[in-house]
Amino acid sequence: MTIDSKTLSELKEALLAEKAKLEENLGRIAKSVDSKIGDYEPVFDEIGNDREDNTTEVEAYTDNLPVEMALEKKLQSVILALSKMEQGTYGICENCQQEIAIERLKANPSAQTCITCKK
Ligand SMILES: [Zn+2]
Repeated sequence: MTIDSKTLSELKEALLAEKAKLEENLGRIAKSVDSKIGDYEPVFDEIGNDREDNTTEVEAYTDNLPVEMALEKKLQSVILALSKMEQGTYGICENCQQEIAIERLKANPSAQTCITCKK
């Protein structure tokens, strides 16, 4: 790995901050099934619980589903990137096993593939 330790710790901080934010957002529309792997399921049973805005909630749920899935997917890639950091395999493209450009990692610390494979 050619990423220097300063850059690596900056990327780790960015990942941890992103993880916290994603967990916060997911916590509003889903419940955690397994926080280690970022597994969430949408909250169904909240609908209709003594809320004045039931209709709004059903609509919100329907709107939330794709959002929930996108957030969950993002969270899982953040968790994966953090575990790769611990294993020392961070920054390696999953597809071609080449190092991912540092500029790409800085822009998107949870990137799992290099820019060539992304295309
Ligand atoms: Zn690649």
